Amino acid sequence: TPDIRRHMERLAAEGVDVVRVIYPDLIGTDRARDVLLDHLPSASEHGLAFCRAVYHTSPQGDVVPVAGGLDAGLPDVCVRPDLSTAAPLPWEPGVATCLGEVTDPATGGPAPESPRDLLRTVLARCSEQGLRPVVGPELEYFLLEPAPGTPTGWRRSPEATGAVYTAGLRADPGNHLLRTLRQLRDLGLGVVTGNHEFDGGQYEINLNHSEALDAADRAFRFKAAVKELARKEGNMATFMAKPFGDAGGSGFHLHLSCSDTEEHNAFDDPSGAYGLSATARHAMAGILAHAPALAALANPTVNSYKRFGPDTLAPWLIDWGLDNRSAMVRIPPERGSGARLELRLGDASANPYLLIAGTIAAALLGIQEGEEPPAPLEGYGYDTAKSALLPESLPTALDALEADTALTDVLGKDFTTSFLTYKRNEVERFQRHVTDWEFTEYAYHL
Ligand code: GLU
Ligand code: MG
Ligand code: MG
Repeated sequence: TPDIRRHMERLAAEGVDVVRVIYPDLIGTDRARDVLLDHLPSASEHGLAFCRAVYHTSPQGDVVPVAGGLDAGLPDVCVRPDLSTAAPLPWEPGVATCLGEVTDPATGGPAPESPRDLLRTVLARCSEQGLRPVVGPELEYFLLEPAPGTPTGWRRSPEATGAVYTAGLRADPGNHLLRTLRQLRDLGLGVVTGNHEFDGGQYEINLNHSEALDAADRAFRFKAAVKELARKEGNMATFMAKPFGDAGGSGFHLHLSCSDTEEHNAFDDPSGAYGLSATARHAMAGILAHAPALAALANPTVNSYKRFGPDTLAPWLIDWGLDNRSAMVRIPPERGSGARLELRLGDASANPYLLIAGTIAAALLGIQEGEEPPAPLEGYGYDTAKSALLPESLPTALDALEADTALTDVLGKDFTTSFLTYKRNEVERFQRHVTDWEFTEYAYHL
């Protein structure tokens, strides 16, 4: 078709001869197939076949099933390149990446576990209410270097470990941050700023806010790109929630507002309580009310729950506050077009599509029910007498998700069942694993 020809000519003119087609699997990692430019018309017409099941192999050689389709006999999903999203990879001459549209070959409709389609479903519910969610993602990660002979094989650079929050260039010994920021800009991901985070070797790069699906797409491509760039330099960038017991975790904060039909920020109201509209209050109340279930999507690993705690800058209680970083929902000081919520619940390991879909679904339920939030948290604090605790473990959060039928009705039965099955399998594998801690604690004395 002329459209595909036009994209092919554009890519060829940019020196591209291979297109890496990527799509997010259930846990949000990128699945890819590299397609020669000449094969694009056929790939677009027939789609590319990918096995729905995903296995990761760890450097130790453990094979880890992470998602999809085992029960159904390992069927295919069909992935069509969306060439409008193709962008040359600045660090890999001749290669562009683009997003793939996933369909189920059996039905021709969306595949049962497609996170991108789940987000689209939730956004369609918002448009019925005349609302268009706007999202600004903030992702933190650790940069690790090889440490042969150590138990995990990786460590934070000793040069970076003394650094502190927003320390200047001394916190970026190899200019990792500068290089990454520029490369991501050249890839067209809409990055705006980068800084060193609270813990040595931990960085944050902020993405511009935009319409929710676009923000999720950019956050997904961002994580894949940062990992790829670090790996190219022999290092590893990790978005796991809490890689070290003696350092803070990595958050995936979400800034959320909503455009109404007049392109006005529906969260702003100078005459409303706290300068926020009723819509903003209801949305926040929905997020607070559904937080235990939302945690399953925002904090989807066994490790995620080690990030929570008092005095961590990660949340611990289900609460909110005005420009208060000890609360789960912070209302940043800007109003007008900048009036928004900052949900601090998510950690960096979350699948961006699921975190964003779950948050918006919870907000929408709050809006539909006209829910009101409790009084805001005053001052820095973690008072268990005033606010409920977030789930303390992944199994608790998974049970909360299953029990929250209002939320799972929005997310759909197919998705919820797949997600719970795979995550409960992860929990079971963890529970059977004997950790170093147990050996150290018990072996000698008992
Ligand atoms: N690292 C903290 C977290 O896990 C957030 C620090 C910050 O406020 O930027 O959420
Ligand atoms: Mg941060
Ligand atoms: Mg933040």
